[in-house]
Amino acid sequence: MGKGFHVRDRFAAGAQYIGGKLRSGTSGRSHDIVNPATGETVHTYELAGPADVDAAVAAAREAFPGWSGATPAERSEAMHRFAAVLAEQADDFAYAESLQCGKPIKLSTEFDVPGTVDNTAFFAGAARHLEGKAAGEYDGDHTSYVRREAIGVVGSIAPWNYPLQMAAWKILPAVAAGNTIVLKPAEITPLTSLMFAQAATEAGIPDGVINIVTGAGKDAGEHLVGHPDVVMTSFTGSTAVGKRVAEIATATVKRLHLELGGKAPFLVFDDADLEAAVNGAVAGALINTGQDCTAATRAYVQRPLYDAFVQGVASLMETVRLGDPFDPSTDLGPLISHAQRDRVAGFVERARAYATVVTGGEAPGGDLADGAYYRPTLVAGAAQDSEIVQSEIFGPVLVVLPFDTDDEGIALANDTPYGLAASAWSRDLYRAGRATREIKAGCVWVNDHIPIISEMPHGGYKASGFGKDMSVYSFEEYTQVKHVMYDNTAVARKDWHRTIFGDR
Ligand code: NAD
Repeated sequence: MGKGFHVRDRFAAGAQYIGGKLRSGTSGRSHDIVNPATGETVHTYELAGPADVDAAVAAAREAFPGWSGATPAERSEAMHRFAAVLAEQADDFAYAESLQCGKPIKLSTEFDVPGTVDNTAFFAGAARHLEGKAAGEYDGDHTSYVRREAIGVVGSIAPWNYPLQMAAWKILPAVAAGNTIVLKPAEITPLTSLMFAQAATEAGIPDGVINIVTGAGKDAGEHLVGHPDVVMTSFTGSTAVGKRVAEIATATVKRLHLELGGKAPFLVFDDADLEAAVNGAVAGALINTGQDCTAATRAYVQRPLYDAFVQGVASLMETVRLGDPFDPSTDLGPLISHAQRDRVAGFVERARAYATVVTGGEAPGGDLADGAYYRPTLVAGAAQDSEIVQSEIFGPVLVVLPFDTDDEGIALANDTPYGLAASAWSRDLYRAGRATREIKAGCVWVNDHIPIISEMPHGGYKASGFGKDMSVYSFEEYTQVKHVMYDNTAVARKDWHRTIFGDR
């Protein structure tokens, strides 16, 4: 199973990280972390309950004055050390991420971990560039300026698909801006979030700035969102849970950032480089076994290229190697759990009644039979309004549909409730440019699908949520701006007092 530390030893003290220390949850309920590649239990820990959330929020509250009062340079230096500690521990992070998620080790090693180190280094730098934009004498009698301030204790909730990166995306902009945070990872994948917080402590980030509570959504999650001392909720997860989180956050008048589901279109115009589009569709649909909110899920292909695209994608999908996540040659790991695998299989089985499964559509047997594996799957011939085209599947399943005119292709691309990401494939600058303007999504790639970078914002339109992760745009979520106004006249009776005192 690959090399690494012993998870049971490392987390023997518990799976809650509060005030700079690991401790056990007090909910009275335990949880098994299961390796989805084998079905074996990796570790069992006590879930957090409301009392643990209260303790974590109290620790974050206590740490807030010191951390928000530190200079940008002090925060930045600590975060640069944090990036260095993460880089030193890269192998441990990759091991733990692959163990708890079943991700191929090459994905953890080449994407999840270096992406997180880069994000940390980016926010270490960005911590020194927080600014208010306006300063001046706008009415002649006053000087105005804008202060950008940290807001307080942030409560964040993350999903299981990229546990390390999601923890980083939530924690880094919040703490770079001077806030303190309590993060609840998904209870099935807490390991790398805990390790991330431990690495911050090793780097000298003060106790209580970053706290992790690992509990169930209904229990620890809802308590965190409704907590009166938490000023903001940042949530990444499904649209259904996001709606519930929004209800609770609204009832306590919290600032809210929602990163929700996606159903990304992959729009291939008839002048596209077919080979590039085929490679892009397979890689874009299968990354992280399709459990990626931006994954290519709906390929719309202009009629002249349609048959060749279907054939090319099906053949390439059949070459993808499923296997042990710790084997460096494995391309595709299992889904996160057997339940998720069965859910994905359910979508495909129901689609057989109205569409064609061109390739895949089954779990492999043999050595992989105990894991939550599912073969790369291509579905054709489904109607635009069918379940498989409209619903988020979150598995290695791509649906392909033809279109005739550019107008039709763009309309189909926009025809779901989601709007997280999309791609357009064309050699014509004007056609691709039109797609980038007219597709309603937070990210539109041209002739590629998936890459992300720390400098650029990530976030949805429509039912995919609002607010941005990564980049300096995320500071809009994690700071508040204050207008400060000084009188410059030094007179007792100001001009505007006429509205009260008349002409006396
Ligand atoms: P999920 O919504 O089931 O769970 C997400 C988190 O919310 C988990 O930590 C869970 O414990 C918690 N939760 C569940 N019920 C809760 C409640 N009632 N109150 C508070 N918290 C609660 O999502 P998931 O299955 O873990 O992740 C997959 C989903 O996440 C997909 O829909 C995917 O598109 C989305 N996602 C979106 C992005 C993005 O950037 N937009 C990124 C990654 C994943």
